Amino acid sequence: MRIPKWKILGVTDDFTECGCCGRRGLKRTVALMPLDAEGNEDGTAEEVAYYGTSCAATALGWTQGKVTDTARAAQAERDQRDAYARRMISLYAPVEFAPVREKARVFYGRNRSLRHTGVKASEEVAKRLAEARATLADTMTGPARPSRTEDFCRYLVIFSSEQSIHRVLRVPNDKAAREEQATAAARRADQIGGSVLVVAALDHESARDVAYSRHLSPEWFDKAWQAAHA
Ligand SMILES: [Zn+2]
Repeated sequence: MRIPKWKILGVTDDFTECGCCGRRGLKRTVALMPLDAEGNEDGTAEEVAYYGTSCAATALGWTQGKVTDTARAAQAERDQRDAYARRMISLYAPVEFAPVREKARVFYGRNRSLRHTGVKASEEVAKRLAEARATLADTMTGPARPSRTEDFCRYLVIFSSEQSIHRVLRVPNDKAAREEQATAAARRADQIGGSVLVVAALDHESARDVAYSRHLSPEWFDKAWQAAHA
């Protein structure tokens, strides 16, 4: 008899019914990908099973504690991949439709070691965007995450006098609050001899990267935001 083998993908509170015993109302389930006889992942999102912790433990022949720890670690890894994908989109989606020269300036500006190696900036940008979009569209442990330039938010970045980031703040939608924030930020920048920059990005962490890279193609970074929110 072939023992079913699984790989734990992560943990989700989107599915609350155990796919093994049918128990409902679970707080969360463990996402399990079936593995083939050689131990390769054997399928797509449709093949993923969602088991309660105790059924997952039985299926794997593990303790529940080991299942919980492994699922948490796997989910943390997925979250990190998501964060990386958001950075790639925040950095490269603005120049996706820019002339090759602009793309090259941004790509090589961030990947100096790849300059003159034959690596083509346009191809790399396209590849990284495709991978990032696929990562955020993956629904194996939850709904798809925002990935379009329309989903970008604005962040106010205060630079120190040494040109390192002092603070990153989400820009509020409300106009009065926005003006208040801008005034306070200008005052703070003045105090520390720094400067203020507003950038658009998918999240707080990505905003830092965009702030450091915007000078590579200011026109296109700003254009993406304007086109998406016109
Ligand atoms: Zn169960």
